[in-house]
Amino acid sequence: MLTLTANDVRLGATATDWQDALQQAARDLEAARRTSPDYLAGMMARERQSSTVLGNGIAIPHGTPESRDAVLKTGIRILQFPQGITWHDNARVHVLVVIAAQSDEHLDILRHLTRVLDKPGLAEKLARATDATELVALLSKAPAVAKCDNETLCLGIDASTPNELALIAAARLQSLRCVSTDFLAEIIGQPPVALGQGFWLTHHTVGARRPTLSLATPKRATPELRGVFCLAGPGDECHDLLDRIDNFLARNEPIDGLSGDALLARLSGEAADAVTAKVTLLNTHGLHARPAKYLVQEARRHNASIRIRVLEGDGSAVSATSLTRVIGLGARRGQMLLLSATGDEADQAIVSLTNAIEDGLGENVDPLRSAEPRAPVPEAQPPEPLADDQPVKAVAASPGLALAPAFVMRQPALEYPDSAADSEQQIQRLNQAIDDADGQLRTLIRHAEGGEAAPILSVHVEMLQDEDLYQATLEAINEGASAEAGWWKAIDTAARAQEALSDRLLAERAADLRDVGRRVLANLCGVAMPTPPDTPYILVADDLGPSDVARLDTTRVRGLVTARGGATSHSAILARALGLPAVVGAGEQILTIANGSDLVVDGERGCLVPNPGAERCERIRRRLEKLEALQAQAHEHRNQPATTEDGHTIEVCANLGNTAHTPDAVDRGADGVGLLRTEFIFMAHPEAPDLATQVREYQHAFDALNGLPLVARTLDVGGDKPLDYWPLPQEDNPFLGMRGIRLSLTRPDILETQVRALLTAAGDRPLRIMFPMVKDLEEFRAARAIVSKVQAEVPAGDVQVGVMIEVPSCALLASTLAPEVDFFSVGTNDLTQYTLAIDRGHGQLSAESDGLHPSVLRLIRMTVEAAHAHDRWVGVCGELASDPQAIPVLVGLDVDELSVTSRRVPLVKACIRGLNLENARQQAEKALAMATAAEVRDALEVW
Ligand code: PEP
Ligand code: MG
Repeated sequence: MLTLTANDVRLGATATDWQDALQQAARDLEAARRTSPDYLAGMMARERQSSTVLGNGIAIPHGTPESRDAVLKTGIRILQFPQGITWHDNARVHVLVVIAAQSDEHLDILRHLTRVLDKPGLAEKLARATDATELVALLSKAPAVAKCDNETLCLGIDASTPNELALIAAARLQSLRCVSTDFLAEIIGQPPVALGQGFWLTHHTVGARRPTLSLATPKRATPELRGVFCLAGPGDECHDLLDRIDNFLARNEPIDGLSGDALLARLSGEAADAVTAKVTLLNTHGLHARPAKYLVQEARRHNASIRIRVLEGDGSAVSATSLTRVIGLGARRGQMLLLSATGDEADQAIVSLTNAIEDGLGENVDPLRSAEPRAPVPEAQPPEPLADDQPVKAVAASPGLALAPAFVMRQPALEYPDSAADSEQQIQRLNQAIDDADGQLRTLIRHAEGGEAAPILSVHVEMLQDEDLYQATLEAINEGASAEAGWWKAIDTAARAQEALSDRLLAERAADLRDVGRRVLANLCGVAMPTPPDTPYILVADDLGPSDVARLDTTRVRGLVTARGGATSHSAILARALGLPAVVGAGEQILTIANGSDLVVDGERGCLVPNPGAERCERIRRRLEKLEALQAQAHEHRNQPATTEDGHTIEVCANLGNTAHTPDAVDRGADGVGLLRTEFIFMAHPEAPDLATQVREYQHAFDALNGLPLVARTLDVGGDKPLDYWPLPQEDNPFLGMRGIRLSLTRPDILETQVRALLTAAGDRPLRIMFPMVKDLEEFRAARAIVSKVQAEVPAGDVQVGVMIEVPSCALLASTLAPEVDFFSVGTNDLTQYTLAIDRGHGQLSAESDGLHPSVLRLIRMTVEAAHAHDRWVGVCGELASDPQAIPVLVGLDVDELSVTSRRVPLVKACIRGLNLENARQQAEKALAMATAAEVRDALEVW
């Protein structure tokens, strides 16, 4: 891009007249090897067409397009004439910005210059400048470009207070990198101010990287809350944005159900009753001075107030009668201009301006070559098919073994036109497609009755009935979109809004939205969605979110194989909870597996085998029989303690997210609940459950446990576990941000209520409370103080208070914590994530996030040593505790308790019974001495 620099400036020039000035300019360009001598003729020809004076003492001489052959290299020269020269249009000129451009790069300079033209006294300052840098500064000090567009709008947000909406709007600006986290911190600390008519404003300059305006509107508007504007940037750069808010409020028009585009139109000052038109700019060099002058003259001929803006631009509309403003739009060929007019001659004005723009505004223009075939996009090479009967290595995500035909989930290609002329027919098609989708989903729900999938499919049915989605689609159709394009745009916008709010789990909800959207789209396109067979199958997919896994029909699906994903992602955890053998991160070649062909999933060894041969099938069947026998045996002895051959007993407890599953855990022989993920109880309610509700929930667990201990983890939200009604600011690194105990400590009232509920429900029954994501003693003490305070009011008989070891600092400092805690519980999922610096849900990397890494094992050893030195017990409640290879190591590291998914309790107990403590200690020593997780796995005996 062309920029003005001090090196391009010649100060103190004098000239006898404007031609002399132009000749000097041409010589300067020639001397700088930018042009050949012929360029002067081109500049003269250009002046004959019309003056290049911009105003305020500035002219921008440049050649005609025909003289571009004389340009050797794009460049610029600036000549200052302190005494001034009289141009041929009688304007007084002090500075020539002489441009030699091979293409339309000069438009950027022009655009910048038009932004400084309004500066009071600019001509005098230019004439008096004695320093080249000063002159450049005067010419180039353009205000930062403001942003207010579809990206900054957050419409139909599920929030009910101005504070929440302000936070969401600010978070959006941060995710767009228009502001930093400092801005968010300021917005959190200041309530929005009421502007009237149900609108609010929150504004700050701290952390603003550019002037930006966001508008967040609630899903259910009330007279008191229709929207919150969030404005970032210093006051002097935000004038234009504030004007937009002012104009918007002054009109006081209803906005309910408006699409993003329509809202932006209101914000840019277009009246609801304005006559509007869209027209594509065809001028080769964009809306530069000459065509702009033509447009302005055309606009001035009408008794109408006409505004113009670039559809893809920053959202600001300018008066079509202001030359500098129109040039300042910087519109380029191919961009869409939006014209709007009010007043007596609005209709004629729009028609004649549209025609004038289409005709080229006085220039010869060529139509856009949209009909030309696009350069073919090189097709990605399909992956090589997998060899038959050859094991393929993958990440073991959920133990178990399965042999069944494959069902490969491939999304069908959906092609459709973007626009359609007959909106009535499009609306009918849309209604039919939605009705069909509704019927399909209800059939699926009937088949899935009682299973994990049914509630998720019901959510899909609700999504289909979402009035906002429907209205947004109708708007788009009425603006000329096809039913398919309108529907998908509405779905995509809503899904992106979800994704921008927070992270993984909300993103999964966005995936649900896209899922249901695709179903309707497929109906519109007449394409069938992939439907799993009625018979048992192994699901093969690129990747699966937790919602996909939860939607599985567990009566038929025998196993899972994904191309991407890692072992500690929540979907893998869910697969384990469902007891489905799963391998993940197997690579994209798995998508070449033929539907219906036999497939083996080995969740114990972490591999799959496509098209297994007869011999292998036989071996697998024998292994399956053995496994079944082992499981039957384990089940039979499930209520016996997990005591090693040499008499060392380990408690084996269950991990739960739902207290209703406690009887099942006890029935499977659990020695207690080792981890109650209480955030799932909070997630199951539309708002924070009150004391009575929580007491009831926890009582269920205590009643079913019948004297066995319950380890309850206090609310652990943030990071990958968002809570709808506790909106969190978008953070660059949510895993390193507001989550776990540090978030709970910002709302001690919520923590206090939870602790009160736990103590009340427990009475004299054994309760263990632990805090998630603690980093050191200070955080533990702060949380402990809340428990102590409540204990003083609600005495419970058998309470211990501990911390989860999930952050490496806490393991390293275990010796400082041990004297003050009652126990530790190692959360290996997060501990591994933070120790290895690998996001546990990362598509590619999480495969390497192995809790058997020696670094993680060393942290566990430090924890156990510190705890036992103070007579404290240590549990392991992360997924590592159910890993058959890890169990002997953990036992050998002297942990006292393992807490695993309920289904695994009998098998884990059986595994421990087959161990010898001495032998396990040797295995642990061996593992600790290794350098990598792979070495550890190779060195360990397979269970
Ligand atoms: C862990 O991090 O290991 C753990 C048990 O907690 P969660 O998986 O719920 O984060
Ligand atoms: Mg954790």
